[in-house]
Amino acid sequence: MTTVYATDSRFADHEFTGYSHPEHPGRVQAVWELLEATKIVNDLHHLQPTPVATDVLRLAHSDELINQLAQISGQDRLVLIDHDTYALPESYEIARLAAGATVQATEAVLNQQAKNGLVVVRPPGHHATINRAMGFCLLNSIAVAARVAQRIHQVERILIVDFDVHHGNGTQDIFYNDPGVYFISTHQSPFYPGTGYIDQTGIGAGDGYTLNIPMPGGQGDENYAAVFDEIIYPAAKRYQPELILVSAGFDAHWVDPLANMKLSLMGFAQLTRKLVRMAEEFCGGKIIFVMEGGYDLQALSHGILNVGYALLAQDEVSDPYGPAKGQEPDVSKLIEQIKGIHNLP
Ligand SMILES: [Zn+2]
Repeated sequence: MTTVYATDSRFADHEFTGYSHPEHPGRVQAVWELLEATKIVNDLHHLQPTPVATDVLRLAHSDELINQLAQISGQDRLVLIDHDTYALPESYEIARLAAGATVQATEAVLNQQAKNGLVVVRPPGHHATINRAMGFCLLNSIAVAARVAQRIHQVERILIVDFDVHHGNGTQDIFYNDPGVYFISTHQSPFYPGTGYIDQTGIGAGDGYTLNIPMPGGQGDENYAAVFDEIIYPAAKRYQPELILVSAGFDAHWVDPLANMKLSLMGFAQLTRKLVRMAEEFCGGKIIFVMEGGYDLQALSHGILNVGYALLAQDEVSDPYGPAKGQEPDVSKLIEQIKGIHNLP
Protein backbone atom coordinates (compact mmCIF):
# COMPACT_ATOMS: atom_id res chain seq x y z
CA MET A 1 0.00 0.00 0.00
CA THR A 2 1.23 3.42 -0.93
CA THR A 3 1.24 6.95 0.40
CA VAL A 4 -0.57 9.27 -1.97
CA TYR A 5 0.97 12.71 -2.50
CA ALA A 6 -1.42 15.31 -3.90
CA THR A 7 0.00 18.58 -5.13
CA ASP A 8 0.02 20.74 -8.26
CA SER A 9 2.34 23.38 -9.76
CA ARG A 10 -0.60 25.80 -9.96
CA PHE A 11 -0.50 26.23 -6.16
CA ALA A 12 2.36 28.67 -6.83
CA ASP A 13 0.12 30.88 -9.01
CA HIS A 14 -1.80 32.46 -6.09
CA GLU A 15 0.42 35.42 -5.29
CA PHE A 16 0.03 38.85 -3.73
CA THR A 17 1.93 41.13 -6.03
CA GLY A 18 3.01 44.54 -4.78
CA TYR A 19 4.41 43.84 -1.34
CA SER A 20 5.52 40.79 0.57
CA HIS A 21 2.77 38.69 2.10
CA PRO A 22 3.66 35.82 4.49
CA GLU A 23 1.40 33.41 2.56
CA HIS A 24 3.36 33.38 -0.69
CA PRO A 25 4.32 30.84 -3.41
CA GLY A 26 7.79 30.35 -1.88
CA ARG A 27 6.12 28.27 0.83
CA VAL A 28 4.93 25.51 -1.42
CA GLN A 29 8.04 25.79 -3.61
CA ALA A 30 10.26 25.18 -0.54
CA VAL A 31 8.30 22.01 0.20
CA TRP A 32 8.51 20.75 -3.39
CA GLU A 33 12.26 21.42 -3.52
CA LEU A 34 12.98 19.58 -0.28
CA LEU A 35 10.82 16.58 -1.19
CA GLU A 36 12.68 16.40 -4.52
CA ALA A 37 16.15 16.94 -3.01
CA THR A 38 15.67 14.20 -0.44
CA LYS A 39 14.20 11.92 -3.16
CA ILE A 40 11.26 11.08 -0.89
CA VAL A 41 9.00 11.90 -3.85
CA ASN A 42 10.20 8.65 -5.42
CA ASP A 43 8.54 6.74 -2.57
CA LEU A 44 5.25 8.63 -2.83
CA HIS A 45 2.46 8.03 -5.30
CA HIS A 46 1.79 11.35 -7.03
CA LEU A 47 -1.85 12.28 -7.52
CA GLN A 48 -2.62 14.97 -10.10
CA PRO A 49 -5.65 16.77 -8.65
CA THR A 50 -8.58 18.36 -10.44
CA PRO A 51 -10.66 21.26 -9.07
CA VAL A 52 -13.77 20.25 -7.12
CA ALA A 53 -17.16 20.95 -8.68
CA THR A 54 -19.40 23.65 -7.26
CA ASP A 55 -21.87 21.05 -5.97
CA VAL A 56 -19.10 19.51 -3.88
CA LEU A 57 -18.11 22.93 -2.48
CA ARG A 58 -21.72 23.40 -1.43
CA LEU A 59 -21.31 20.49 1.01
CA ALA A 60 -19.24 22.85 3.19
CA HIS A 61 -19.79 26.40 1.91
CA SER A 62 -22.67 28.78 1.24
CA ASP A 63 -23.56 30.16 -2.17
CA GLU A 64 -22.69 33.58 -0.76
CA LEU A 65 -18.99 32.65 -0.46
CA ILE A 66 -18.90 30.61 -3.68
CA ASN A 67 -20.47 33.49 -5.63
CA GLN A 68 -18.09 36.01 -4.09
CA LEU A 69 -15.04 34.02 -5.22
CA ALA A 70 -16.57 33.32 -8.63
CA GLN A 71 -17.21 37.02 -9.08
CA ILE A 72 -13.58 37.88 -8.23
CA SER A 73 -12.47 35.30 -10.81
CA GLY A 74 -14.30 37.30 -13.46
CA GLN A 75 -12.39 40.51 -12.71
CA ASP A 76 -8.89 41.35 -13.88
CA ARG A 77 -7.30 42.51 -10.64
CA LEU A 78 -6.30 41.40 -7.16
CA VAL A 79 -9.05 41.84 -4.55
CA LEU A 80 -8.46 42.17 -0.82
CA ILE A 81 -11.26 40.22 0.87
CA ASP A 82 -10.08 41.42 4.27
CA HIS A 83 -6.88 43.13 5.38
CA ASP A 84 -4.81 39.93 5.06
CA THR A 85 -6.80 37.71 2.68
CA TYR A 86 -6.30 38.25 -1.05
CA ALA A 87 -7.72 36.72 -4.20
CA LEU A 88 -6.64 36.99 -7.81
CA PRO A 89 -8.86 36.13 -10.77
CA GLU A 90 -7.25 32.65 -10.80
CA SER A 91 -7.45 32.15 -7.03
CA TYR A 92 -10.94 30.62 -7.04
CA GLU A 93 -9.76 27.91 -9.45
CA ILE A 94 -6.59 27.34 -7.38
CA ALA A 95 -8.57 27.09 -4.12
CA ARG A 96 -10.93 24.60 -5.79
CA LEU A 97 -7.84 22.68 -6.91
CA ALA A 98 -6.55 22.67 -3.30
CA ALA A 99 -9.91 21.31 -2.15
CA GLY A 100 -9.77 18.81 -5.03
CA ALA A 101 -6.32 17.59 -3.96
CA THR A 102 -7.61 17.06 -0.43
CA VAL A 103 -10.82 15.35 -1.56
CA GLN A 104 -9.07 13.11 -4.09
CA ALA A 105 -6.31 12.05 -1.65
CA THR A 106 -9.00 11.24 0.92
CA GLU A 107 -10.97 9.24 -1.64
CA ALA A 108 -7.83 7.33 -2.67
CA VAL A 109 -7.43 6.26 0.95
CA LEU A 110 -11.13 5.43 1.41
CA ASN A 111 -11.12 3.40 -1.82
CA GLN A 112 -8.00 1.57 -0.59
CA GLN A 113 -5.88 2.73 -3.51
CA ALA A 114 -3.50 4.19 -0.92
CA LYS A 115 -2.80 3.56 2.74
CA ASN A 116 -2.53 7.23 3.74
CA GLY A 117 -2.01 10.65 2.21
CA LEU A 118 0.03 13.85 2.13
CA VAL A 119 -1.62 16.93 0.63
CA VAL A 120 0.63 19.89 -0.18
CA VAL A 121 -1.56 22.84 -1.11
CA ARG A 122 -2.09 26.55 -0.80
CA PRO A 123 -3.85 28.79 -0.10
CA PRO A 124 -4.54 27.20 3.29
CA GLY A 125 -8.12 26.48 4.29
CA HIS A 126 -8.88 26.07 7.98
CA HIS A 127 -9.99 29.68 8.63
CA ALA A 128 -12.59 29.65 5.83
CA THR A 129 -16.03 29.40 7.45
CA ILE A 130 -19.31 28.35 5.84
CA ASN A 131 -19.75 31.78 4.30
CA ARG A 132 -16.52 33.70 4.74
CA ALA A 133 -12.98 33.66 3.33
CA MET A 134 -10.52 34.95 5.95
CA GLY A 135 -7.07 34.51 7.47
CA PHE A 136 -5.33 33.81 4.10
CA CYS A 137 -7.94 31.05 3.46
CA LEU A 138 -10.47 31.02 0.62
CA LEU A 139 -12.08 27.56 0.74
CA ASN A 140 -11.83 25.05 3.58
CA SER A 141 -10.19 22.11 1.81
CA ILE A 142 -10.15 19.74 4.78
CA ALA A 143 -13.82 20.45 5.54
CA VAL A 144 -14.84 19.78 1.95
CA ALA A 145 -12.93 16.47 2.08
CA ALA A 146 -14.59 15.50 5.37
CA ARG A 147 -18.00 16.26 3.89
CA VAL A 148 -17.26 14.12 0.83
CA ALA A 149 -16.13 11.25 3.08
CA GLN A 150 -19.31 11.66 5.11
CA ARG A 151 -21.93 12.24 2.40
CA ILE A 152 -20.53 10.27 -0.53
CA HIS A 153 -18.59 7.48 1.20
CA GLN A 154 -20.87 7.14 4.27
CA VAL A 155 -18.04 7.53 6.76
CA GLU A 156 -19.85 8.03 10.05
CA ARG A 157 -17.07 9.20 12.37
CA ILE A 158 -14.30 11.48 11.10
CA LEU A 159 -11.68 12.97 13.40
CA ILE A 160 -10.05 16.24 12.34
CA VAL A 161 -6.97 17.22 14.36
CA ASP A 162 -5.72 20.76 13.73
CA PHE A 163 -2.24 21.49 15.12
CA ASP A 164 -1.73 24.74 13.22
CA VAL A 165 -0.85 27.43 15.78
CA HIS A 166 -4.03 29.33 14.89
CA HIS A 167 -7.48 28.09 15.83
CA GLY A 168 -9.24 26.36 12.93
CA ASN A 169 -12.32 28.53 13.31
CA GLY A 170 -13.61 27.72 9.85
CA THR A 171 -13.53 23.97 10.39
CA GLN A 172 -15.15 24.43 13.80
CA ASP A 173 -17.89 26.58 12.22
CA ILE A 174 -18.68 24.05 9.48
CA PHE A 175 -19.02 21.07 11.84
CA TYR A 176 -20.17 22.79 15.04
CA ASN A 177 -23.53 20.99 15.10
CA ASP A 178 -22.28 17.73 13.56
CA PRO A 179 -21.39 14.71 15.75
CA GLY A 180 -20.10 12.93 12.62
CA VAL A 181 -16.97 15.11 12.58
CA TYR A 182 -15.01 15.44 15.82
CA PHE A 183 -12.90 18.59 15.60
CA ILE A 184 -9.89 18.91 17.92
CA SER A 185 -7.65 21.97 17.74
CA THR A 186 -4.47 22.96 19.58
CA HIS A 187 -3.70 26.65 19.22
CA GLN A 188 -2.11 29.72 20.75
CA SER A 189 -4.60 31.82 22.72
CA PRO A 190 -5.32 34.66 22.97
CA PHE A 191 -4.36 34.99 19.30
CA TYR A 192 -5.79 35.29 15.79
CA PRO A 193 -8.66 34.64 14.99
CA GLY A 194 -9.92 35.09 18.56
CA THR A 195 -11.96 31.88 18.76
CA GLY A 196 -11.36 28.35 20.10
CA TYR A 197 -12.02 28.76 23.82
CA ILE A 198 -12.38 25.69 26.01
CA ASP A 199 -16.11 26.23 26.46
CA GLN A 200 -16.74 26.10 22.69
CA THR A 201 -17.65 22.41 22.57
CA GLY A 202 -20.27 22.21 19.82
CA ILE A 203 -24.01 22.80 19.67
CA GLY A 204 -27.15 20.67 19.36
CA ALA A 205 -26.35 17.16 18.18
CA GLY A 206 -22.73 18.30 17.84
CA ASP A 207 -22.39 19.21 21.52
CA GLY A 208 -19.23 17.53 22.82
CA TYR A 209 -17.74 17.01 19.35
CA THR A 210 -15.62 20.16 19.27
CA LEU A 211 -12.59 20.05 21.55
CA ASN A 212 -10.50 23.18 21.87
CA ILE A 213 -7.07 23.27 23.47
CA PRO A 214 -6.16 26.98 23.64
CA MET A 215 -2.71 27.54 25.16
CA PRO A 216 -0.63 30.58 26.03
CA GLY A 217 2.53 31.05 23.95
CA GLY A 218 5.72 29.27 24.98
CA GLN A 219 4.49 25.66 24.81
CA GLY A 220 7.05 23.29 23.37
CA ASP A 221 7.70 19.62 22.65
CA GLU A 222 6.99 18.34 26.18
CA ASN A 223 3.71 20.17 26.71
CA TYR A 224 2.38 19.41 23.26
CA ALA A 225 3.22 15.73 23.77
CA ALA A 226 1.38 15.79 27.11
CA VAL A 227 -1.66 17.39 25.46
CA PHE A 228 -1.66 14.74 22.74
CA ASP A 229 -1.24 11.86 25.22
CA GLU A 230 -3.63 13.08 27.91
CA ILE A 231 -6.38 14.76 25.86
CA ILE A 232 -6.25 13.94 22.16
CA TYR A 233 -5.47 10.23 22.45
CA PRO A 234 -8.25 9.38 24.96
CA ALA A 235 -10.71 11.60 23.09
CA ALA A 236 -9.92 9.82 19.82
CA LYS A 237 -10.08 6.43 21.51
CA ARG A 238 -13.54 7.16 22.88
CA TYR A 239 -14.74 8.40 19.47
CA GLN A 240 -13.29 5.49 17.44
CA PRO A 241 -12.87 7.44 14.19
CA GLU A 242 -13.08 5.64 10.84
CA LEU A 243 -10.85 8.27 9.22
CA ILE A 244 -8.42 10.89 10.53
CA LEU A 245 -7.71 14.17 8.74
CA VAL A 246 -5.00 16.52 9.98
CA SER A 247 -4.73 20.27 9.47
CA ALA A 248 -0.96 20.33 9.49
CA GLY A 249 0.36 23.84 10.05
CA PHE A 250 3.96 24.35 11.14
CA ASP A 251 3.61 27.86 12.57
CA ALA A 252 3.91 26.57 16.17
CA HIS A 253 7.63 26.07 15.44
CA TRP A 254 9.90 28.24 17.62
CA VAL A 255 11.34 30.15 14.62
CA ASP A 256 7.96 31.00 13.06
CA PRO A 257 7.67 34.76 12.47
CA LEU A 258 3.90 34.96 13.12
CA ALA A 259 3.48 33.08 16.41
CA ASN A 260 5.06 32.43 19.81
CA MET A 261 5.07 28.68 20.41
CA LYS A 262 8.25 26.63 20.93
CA LEU A 263 7.78 23.34 19.12
CA SER A 264 10.84 21.94 17.36
CA LEU A 265 10.80 19.90 14.16
CA MET A 266 11.53 16.85 16.32
CA GLY A 267 8.53 17.77 18.46
CA PHE A 268 6.31 18.10 15.40
CA ALA A 269 7.61 14.75 14.12
CA GLN A 270 6.68 13.10 17.42
CA LEU A 271 3.14 14.55 17.27
CA THR A 272 2.88 13.40 13.66
CA ARG A 273 3.89 9.87 14.64
CA LYS A 274 1.39 9.85 17.52
CA LEU A 275 -1.36 10.67 15.01
CA VAL A 276 -0.18 7.99 12.57
CA ARG A 277 -0.19 5.45 15.42
CA MET A 278 -3.73 6.53 16.38
CA ALA A 279 -4.82 5.92 12.81
CA GLU A 280 -3.20 2.47 12.92
CA GLU A 281 -4.97 1.68 16.18
CA PHE A 282 -8.42 3.06 15.35
CA CYS A 283 -8.97 3.04 11.60
CA GLY A 284 -6.60 0.79 9.70
CA GLY A 285 -4.07 3.58 9.22
CA LYS A 286 -6.42 5.85 7.25
CA ILE A 287 -4.94 9.32 7.78
CA ILE A 288 -4.41 12.30 5.49
CA PHE A 289 -2.23 15.30 6.39
CA VAL A 290 -3.16 18.58 4.73
CA MET A 291 -0.73 21.51 4.72
CA GLU A 292 -2.11 24.67 6.38
CA GLY A 293 0.10 27.48 7.83
CA GLY A 294 3.81 27.73 8.57
CA TYR A 295 5.70 30.86 7.60
CA ASP A 296 9.33 29.93 8.09
CA LEU A 297 10.21 28.09 4.90
CA GLN A 298 12.70 25.69 6.48
CA ALA A 299 10.44 24.78 9.41
CA LEU A 300 7.53 24.29 7.03
CA SER A 301 9.36 22.21 4.44
CA HIS A 302 11.16 19.97 6.94
CA GLY A 303 7.92 19.62 8.90
CA ILE A 304 6.17 18.32 5.78
CA LEU A 305 9.16 16.10 4.95
CA ASN A 306 8.89 14.54 8.41
CA VAL A 307 5.18 13.89 7.81
CA GLY A 308 6.22 12.05 4.64
CA TYR A 309 8.73 9.92 6.57
CA ALA A 310 6.08 9.08 9.19
CA LEU A 311 3.47 8.14 6.58
CA LEU A 312 5.99 5.90 4.82
CA ALA A 313 6.90 4.29 8.18
CA GLN A 314 10.50 5.43 7.74
CA ASP A 315 12.37 6.25 10.96
CA GLU A 316 14.14 9.35 9.69
CA VAL A 317 13.50 12.82 11.18
CA SER A 318 15.01 16.01 9.77
CA ASP A 319 15.57 18.86 12.23
CA PRO A 320 18.14 21.42 11.07
CA TYR A 321 17.06 23.97 13.72
CA GLY A 322 17.23 21.78 16.82
CA PRO A 323 15.27 22.34 20.01
CA ALA A 324 14.00 25.64 21.41
CA LYS A 325 15.75 27.16 24.40
CA GLY A 326 14.18 27.77 27.79
CA GLN A 327 11.61 26.21 30.08
CA GLU A 328 8.02 25.51 29.13
CA PRO A 329 5.22 26.85 31.31
CA ASP A 330 3.12 24.47 33.45
CA VAL A 331 0.25 23.21 31.31
CA SER A 332 -1.06 20.54 33.71
CA LYS A 333 -3.92 22.64 35.16
CA LEU A 334 -5.21 23.46 31.70
CA ILE A 335 -5.06 19.78 30.74
CA GLU A 336 -7.06 18.82 33.84
CA GLN A 337 -9.61 21.56 33.14
CA ILE A 338 -10.15 20.41 29.55
CA LYS A 339 -10.35 16.76 30.60
CA GLY A 340 -13.06 17.78 33.07
CA ILE A 341 -15.10 19.66 30.47
CA HIS A 342 -14.93 16.68 28.08
CA ASN A 343 -15.29 13.92 30.73
CA LEU A 344 -12.02 12.32 29.70
CA PRO A 345 -10.46 9.65 31.93
ZN1 LIG B 1 -1.67 29.20 11.23
